[in-house]
This record gives sequence, C-alpha cells and structure tokens, in this order.
Amino acid sequence: SLILGLESSCDDTAAALVTGDRRILAQAVVGQNDAHRPYGGVVPEIAARAHVQILPDLIRHVLAEANTDIAEVDAIAATAGPGLIGGVMVGLLTGKGLALSAGKPLVAVNHLEGHALSPRLVDPDLDFPYLLLLVSGGHCQILEVLGVGDYRRVATTIDDAAGEAFDKAAKLLGLPYPGGPAIEQLAKEGDPGAVPLPRPLVGSGEPHFSFAGLKSAVQRAAASGDHSPADIAASFQQAVVDCLVDRARLALERSDAPTLVVAGGVAANQAIRSALQQLATGSGRRFSVPPGWLCTDNAAMIAWAGAERYERGMVDDLSVPARARWPLDPEAEKVRGAGV
Ligand code: ATP
Ligand code: FE
Repeated sequence: SLILGLESSCDDTAAALVTGDRRILAQAVVGQNDAHRPYGGVVPEIAARAHVQILPDLIRHVLAEANTDIAEVDAIAATAGPGLIGGVMVGLLTGKGLALSAGKPLVAVNHLEGHALSPRLVDPDLDFPYLLLLVSGGHCQILEVLGVGDYRRVATTIDDAAGEAFDKAAKLLGLPYPGGPAIEQLAKEGDPGAVPLPRPLVGSGEPHFSFAGLKSAVQRAAASGDHSPADIAASFQQAVVDCLVDRARLALERSDAPTLVVAGGVAANQAIRSALQQLATGSGRRFSVPPGWLCTDNAAMIAWAGAERYERGMVDDLSVPARARWPLDPEAEKVRGAGV
C-alpha cells in the first residue's frame, strides 16, 4: 500500500509518502520556530495560520519527490488529534478534502499512535506486544502496546511532560525554544554531577513521573548564581535520565514484554537513548528506538500508522471529528483525578 500522511497538531507542518512495506518515498517537515520564538512558546493561532499556508505546497512537494500522483495513493492518513485544535483541523480537513476529491479512504490517526508505532517503521523485527516509554512535549507515559489501536497505560506524569520539563528548564536558562535540543547541546560542556537536583518519585512503588519539582529546583539553581548554565543543563538532563530509567526499570520488572521501546520527541536525546538502551540490555530485553528525525514530530510516522490501520481495514468516515484531547488508553483516563 502507498499512504500519504499529514501532520499539523503542533508547530510542525509535515507531509510524507510511506508504503506498507516500510519504504519512506518522501517526507518533509517545515518547522515554525522562527514564528513562535518571540513569544517563548507555541501560539496556537499563529500555528494554525501557518499550517494553512504551508501544507498544500508540502503535499505537492512530497508527491513530486516520490514521482507519483494522488491517484496512485491508496489512502490519506491525517492526524485527527490530540493537539492544538486549530492546527489539527487544518490537517484533518485537508485530508478529508483530498480523500473526497480523489476518491480515497481516510485514516484519522491519533498523533500519539503515530509516535507509538513509529519504531515499527524502521524496525521490522519489532512485534507486539512491547513496553513503550512515550516521552514528548505533551506526554510522559509508559504503555503496553498490545496491537494497533490496543494500548494499556501503565504510568503517566502527575504534572509536567518530559519535553515540557526540558522546555521550561531551557527558558529558565535563557535558551531558545524548543528547549530539548538546546539543553542537550549545552549539557555537553557541563558536569552532570555539579548541581544537586531532586529525582522526583524515584523509588516510589508505582512507575509514575513528576517533573514540576525538578523545574523549581532548576529555577533556584539558576537564580542563586552559584552555577554555570552548562552545569545546570548537564545536571538537569542527568536528573531526567535517572527518573526515566528508574521508572522504566520498575515497569519492566512488572512486564513480560520482550522489547523496551522509546519514542516521542525527547527520545531524540542521546543521553536518554543510551541510558535506556543500557537498562534494556541489563534486563535481558531487546531495545528499539527510532532515529532522531522520526522521534520529533513528522508525517512519516502518521503515514506509517495510517498504513498499519489501512492494511487492517481500519479506515474512517469523513465525519470523523478533530479532537484536542484523545488518550490512547481511554480506560486509564477515566481514573484521572482519582490520583493518576
Ligand atoms: P505530543 O507528541 O505529546 O503531542 P509534541 O508533538 O509537541 O507533543 P514532540 O514533537 O513529540 O512533542 O516532542 C517535542 C518535545 O521534545 C519538545 O518538548 C522538545 O523540547 C523535546 N525534544 C526534542 N529534541 C530533544 C532532545 N534532543 N533532548 C530532549 N528533548 C528534546
Ligand atoms: Fe509529538
């Protein structure tokens, strides 16, 4: 099968053409960092308008690069949530229009399922079930991935997401948005043991996450003037690594899944990748992580999730809604508020 994927749920506009046998024929991402930088974060209205301007040309671009035509495509896969609703509507409506005019089926893809299945695009040996650490700008969860559309949430964050923690820490250090890559770069010049920072929830009996206290500690360290920004960045990154490893270790102990998988934007971080690789190997599990470009937002993962769904007959009606919130495991979501 040949699937066109569209992604517009945050501040990256992306289109890609991917086949069901794992060939990435074309993929392009246009970031909007310059447009949002003056505001220190993503402005939803600016993002939605930018998607409207960028997406049509990007679709033409990937079709031309793959030397193909919309008529050759088997299905259109578009992110239908979760994310900034204006942007999600731009991509989903573009997908619906293309599906309608070209007479192709539409697959409404959950952006988180895009992240969750992305490792299977590049790792043909990765079978279900696997234990997934999903670390992104809006999420920090551990999930058992049992199949396409079949997720059981094992853990989540009680406050900030991992990527959000990187972004907030970066802002406190005067680094540009997005903070993850900036912190990783600066951390290379610092000492990860220089600044004593907390490891929230490490050692606790359930594998949940918390990063708010770490952010406050970074704020105090930065305000004290006692430490260089590089030492704070390196120490912060090490604290996040320690939290992720400890929580993933507990989840692994409770799971018979043969493979530990990491995905989402934060999985682009080299220190995080190697620490989790070590954890997996030490626990006798396989380890799988997509290349960095496939961890941060892109449309190849949306096209791939679309291919996984299309080949199982999981296509959607054109009345499918855009959703700002759309948990992978709705059952786990019901007990939110009663703790985590
Ligand atoms: P979600 O997927 O939860 O809806 P999102 O799509 O906005 O959120 P992603 O694009 O998946 O998030 O990930 C972006 C996040 O990843 C940002 O918070 C960014 O700082 C972080 N990130 C990107 N690269 C790195 C890196 N090298 N190290 C640490 N964090 C990183
Ligand atoms: Fe994402």
